[in-house]
Amino acid sequence: MPAVIPPNPTDGVEVRRLTALYELLAVLTRVKTITDVYDAAVGGLLAATEADRAAILTFDQDGIMRFDAWRDLSPEYRQAVTGHTPWPKGTQNPEPVVIPDVLADESLGAYWDILTRERIRAVAFIPLTLETGVLGKFALYYANAHQCAQDELAVARVIAGHVALVIERKRAERAPAHVEHRLQKILDNSGTVVFLKDIQGRYLLVNRRFEDVFHVTKAQAIGKTDYDLFPPDIAERFRENDRKVLAANQPLTMEEEAPHDDGIHSYLSIKFPIDDQDGTVTGVCGIATDITGRKQLEAASMHLAAIVESSDDAIVSKDLNGIITSWNQGAERLFGYTAAEVIGKPVSILAAPDRMDDMKVILDQIRQGRRVEHYETLRRRNNGETIHVSLTVSPVRDASGRVIGASKIARDISDRKRTETERALLLSREQESRKTAELLNRISPMLAAELDLERLVQSITDLATELVGAEFGSFFHNVVNEQGESYVLYTLSGAPREAFAGFPMPRNTEIFGPTFRGEGVIRCEDVTRDPRYGKTAPYYGMPEGHLPVRSYLAVPVVSRSSEVLGGLFFGHSTAGKFTEQHETILTGLAAQAAIAIDNARLFEQAQWVQNELKRSNEELRRANQDLETFAYSASHDLQEPLRTVALSAQLLERRYTGQLQGDGEQFLKTIVQGAKRMENLIRDILAYATATKYAEGPPPQVDSGKVLGTVLESLKGLIEQAHATITSGDLPVVSMHENRLAQLFQNLISNGLKYRGKEAPLVHISAIERDGWSVFSVVDNGIGMDPKFSELIFGLFKRLHSRSEYPGSGIGLAICQRIVEQYGGRIWLEHSVPGEGSTFCFTFPARPR
Ligand code: ADP
Repeated sequence: MPAVIPPNPTDGVEVRRLTALYELLAVLTRVKTITDVYDAAVGGLLAATEADRAAILTFDQDGIMRFDAWRDLSPEYRQAVTGHTPWPKGTQNPEPVVIPDVLADESLGAYWDILTRERIRAVAFIPLTLETGVLGKFALYYANAHQCAQDELAVARVIAGHVALVIERKRAERAPAHVEHRLQKILDNSGTVVFLKDIQGRYLLVNRRFEDVFHVTKAQAIGKTDYDLFPPDIAERFRENDRKVLAANQPLTMEEEAPHDDGIHSYLSIKFPIDDQDGTVTGVCGIATDITGRKQLEAASMHLAAIVESSDDAIVSKDLNGIITSWNQGAERLFGYTAAEVIGKPVSILAAPDRMDDMKVILDQIRQGRRVEHYETLRRRNNGETIHVSLTVSPVRDASGRVIGASKIARDISDRKRTETERALLLSREQESRKTAELLNRISPMLAAELDLERLVQSITDLATELVGAEFGSFFHNVVNEQGESYVLYTLSGAPREAFAGFPMPRNTEIFGPTFRGEGVIRCEDVTRDPRYGKTAPYYGMPEGHLPVRSYLAVPVVSRSSEVLGGLFFGHSTAGKFTEQHETILTGLAAQAAIAIDNARLFEQAQWVQNELKRSNEELRRANQDLETFAYSASHDLQEPLRTVALSAQLLERRYTGQLQGDGEQFLKTIVQGAKRMENLIRDILAYATATKYAEGPPPQVDSGKVLGTVLESLKGLIEQAHATITSGDLPVVSMHENRLAQLFQNLISNGLKYRGKEAPLVHISAIERDGWSVFSVVDNGIGMDPKFSELIFGLFKRLHSRSEYPGSGIGLAICQRIVEQYGGRIWLEHSVPGEGSTFCFTFPARPR
């Protein structure tokens, strides 16, 4: 800083002032910067005036009076009075302002404090003026009250005049460099690339961004062309654009590409011609903004927008008040509104009638910044249709992170819901069917076990009423009397019998008819609305006093033989009570019921048959016993007189043989023969009458071979006499009384001998076991017979021959039949040909019964 020569205190005031003034002027001619001017001015003022402190203040760009240089002033004071000015900026011909005692000046009341603290008692303000008016001031401070003398003010004004001029000059000198420096600073701090080229394309100016991006310093760039700095094709394009700007002589905006470290970047360049004061174009200026990121963002957001638009899902955004702000094509498709129709409208127009609340819940979540994922709900389409949707709603935030709205993705899940519902329905149906089947399985043995028809039908009715949840149920038997009219026979459950008494038979009405005809299940949600309802006289609907029926369910009970056994009818006073499931249960139950009723009826019939059999068996037994008793007593009673007759005849024969005249002898012979025959007959009848097993207790096991042996032994004489041969096969052990089996063998074998042909008789006895029966055969080679008599010969006293041909009473085979049948067996003529012999067969159960 240039030295200011201090005034010599021994000089007179005048001399001191002048010296100070000259010194100052000398310094001012040498000063370099404006700061030097200010310092010199303050120094000069202190030297040339009485003030003990001084300052210089000027208006800044904004017109505020600020300190430029000062001596011995505290920062607090400077701050307090900055901006204070006696004259507005630019005031012409301002006069100095002198305040000899600040504390005496009321207008400075606000500054008294700070002035006192700063120990300032008097001040003088000297304006710094130019042609443009006041530009600042000198401030002179006095520690004590001070009245400035005219010449003190005069020298201060002279100094002010000089300093103002120098300030102006220095400012003018400083301006271009200053401006350029400032400009460079601004440009260097700009994020855009800025450059200036001359007409030939040589760089005159580049900013820091240019340096950074292209790795070239200002010094390296200045004077170079694009061809020196960039690859030729890029340089050529830059210059091409420059030429266009120069040709157009106006600013042009264009996209340019420039090489960066990470590849080519796009720039939006504003290029304009630069001219000097006289309008000659001297170059091209460019301001280029890197738009690579923005382009990428744009591309990305276009891509995103395209995705959003083409998405199958509805993508909708809304603000925090639920007002729709965007709407894609998916949303148009899903909800049936166009974007134009809904943007700006509340999202609640999409709410399903009973889901208004969930929109509020979602918005509340969003306001709290929470995301709502896969929220399944219902929404309403434009056409009023309700659809199932899955929503994912995310909060949308602004740059500061504040939630400003929500974006919502809605997916139509109606199909999935439908499938789910169908699957659930199928599953529940399957479970219900299984339950029904299990139920019926449980019920079935219960029903099967009940053989009492009345009790069975009652439990079917009770069970079915309970299963279908009916208020009452009934079973009507499908019975018709001899006149062909149906008559009432029914079972009731859930209602007293009186509730139906007096009403006509239901089968006559149109609604009940199909059930009695076995035409399948009838189920009515509301029977009073059924077209078949109310068609029949006299009541045309439910008679007065009838139980109120709305839900109606009826099923026929059809037997295996397709006979409609009756119908199950159910009622409920509320409509829509019976379901398809009930129908299924009931159909199953009806089938079980039909079987059970069939069984019960069969059982009833079987019981009747059995009772009937028992009764007739009893009758038979009694008749048999009567016959036996009769035959026994008759033959006994007959034997007595017969014996007397025979005995008398024999006596007569013995005593009077040879004495009787004429036919006498012959008559006597006839009497003896008749008595003998009668004796045989009585014996045979007695044998027949007593041929019962009952009289002999349970049959023992006997070896039929042994029994045959005994019989042959007793027939020995007869056999020999006839020269007969009797053979037999293996014979089984049978369960019967020995004497009865012996009677059988004896009758059949002696018939074989009796009805012999010309040849010596051959009789063969054998037995086989077949289907649980022992089948005996007795084969002879005798005269045989016509098979048409095969039934007849087993009749009592039935014979094919006269007694003169073959003696006999015609009882033998009848006895045989009686015996065999009493043991549960059968006897028949298996085979016979006249002249060729006969085969008789009889059977016994192989095991005892
Ligand atoms: P009877 O021998 O006393 O006449 P049966 O009841 O034993 O009575 O026989 C009835 C009839 O069956 C006989 O009269 C006879 O005509 C015929 N008959 C029975 N056994 C034979 C047989 N082995 N060969 C041919 N005819 C027979």
